[in-house]
Amino acid sequence: MAAAGARLCAQTPSQEAVSVDLLITGATIVTMDADRRVVEGGFLAVRGDSVVAIGEQAAIAFPKGVAAAKTIDARGKIVLPGLINGHTHIPMVLMRGLKDDVTLDDWLRKYIFPAEARNVTEDYVRWGSRLALAEMIRSGTTTFADMYYFEDAVAEETKAAGLRGFLGETWLDFPSPDSKNEAEMAAYTEQFLKKWQGDPLIHAAVAPHSIYTCSEKTLRDSAALARKYHAPILIHVAEMQKEFVDSLKTNGATPVQYLDRIGLLGPDVLAAHCIWLEASDMKILAERQAGCVHNPSSNMMLASGVAAVVDQRAAGMRVGLGTDGPAGSNNDLNMMEEMDLAAKLQKTSRVDPRALGAKGALEMATIEGARALHMEKEIGSLEAGKKADLIVLNPNVPNAVPMYDVYSQIVYALKASEIETLIVGGKTLLKDGKVLTVDEAKAMAKAKEYGKQVEASLKQ
Ligand SMILES: [Zn+2]
Repeated sequence: MAAAGARLCAQTPSQEAVSVDLLITGATIVTMDADRRVVEGGFLAVRGDSVVAIGEQAAIAFPKGVAAAKTIDARGKIVLPGLINGHTHIPMVLMRGLKDDVTLDDWLRKYIFPAEARNVTEDYVRWGSRLALAEMIRSGTTTFADMYYFEDAVAEETKAAGLRGFLGETWLDFPSPDSKNEAEMAAYTEQFLKKWQGDPLIHAAVAPHSIYTCSEKTLRDSAALARKYHAPILIHVAEMQKEFVDSLKTNGATPVQYLDRIGLLGPDVLAAHCIWLEASDMKILAERQAGCVHNPSSNMMLASGVAAVVDQRAAGMRVGLGTDGPAGSNNDLNMMEEMDLAAKLQKTSRVDPRALGAKGALEMATIEGARALHMEKEIGSLEAGKKADLIVLNPNVPNAVPMYDVYSQIVYALKASEIETLIVGGKTLLKDGKVLTVDEAKAMAKAKEYGKQVEASLKQ
């Protein structure tokens, strides 16, 4: 970082100069706006939590000069909208690698649910969240959607770390680490929803886990509570073949038809996976304006199937991208990797390298992810008036030179390790590769302690 911002100004900032909090100069700015504009040698000005100007020459936007409290000289660097991780369970970082290479049903019922019952406390969730938040900050995520237990603790940690979160308290038909029954779930969730109403970063949500772990009553009750508070509903949908086949048998309908029939689908729903869909299901999801989230690492790791992302996008569905996991089904929270895999999985499954390109994958991680959350007016692209959620990447590394096409470079060549700076709502969370808002050393030490505890608990 250097104070080189004034270099681009028409004249030395005068008393009439426009003052901004942050000025980024000289960057290749990949805006992801409606025209998919890429600005070379551009500037971006931030005031408060929003972008106030963006363009090629600060001199034109600020004819009387600009006085910036902070300047980032980003010559030779790439500026991108922050990435949106549409589906994960962040405290599960403390169980990553616990038991891999088994079926989803076995993994859940034989390992994860018992391990969670014996270990997951509010303290566990806090330390898992801190570790995960550091990992997400390092890998470019500025907004994420989460489903877990003690979600209020996830929300407090997310707020402290400075990320934007759509955080869903999980509902299930069996006792969970924070609730013995539905009455307790409802009481915890309602308090959680009330507490975070109107928060600029935290969107408290309700997360009925899935149709295979929730009865119709649980699904209806959780959705009704969410709607009472205008809160998002996060749910796993059509995640595995067994779920699809069982739903046909039990409900006489596909998972999507069933959810639609009971009134659950709407613009406030974020449906993770959406793998086992019929063409008519895609139509329903598009019409209901539900957001969907593709999780290529998870779907490959659990051999759940391949979501027909190309068809879904063509059907008008709002399709974002997520990591899922981070335990047993990924096992990390790296959205840079997820974009790369999303493109390559569609190419492979359709035996067509044109199926999903780098630009499409980046759309899913940014503006389409924002559309899935119905937040496209605020996040997902870099435009004046939208939130200043962005990352700065350094492409001057052996794995990313020369550069012919910026989209191709971002998705197929650059790695999370090239992210130098991450900003959410104008606040810097990662500066020159250092996480400013999470004590990483402490979080890692605690994670190792919890790792030993979890391992011991499964031997009981
Ligand atoms: Zn999941």
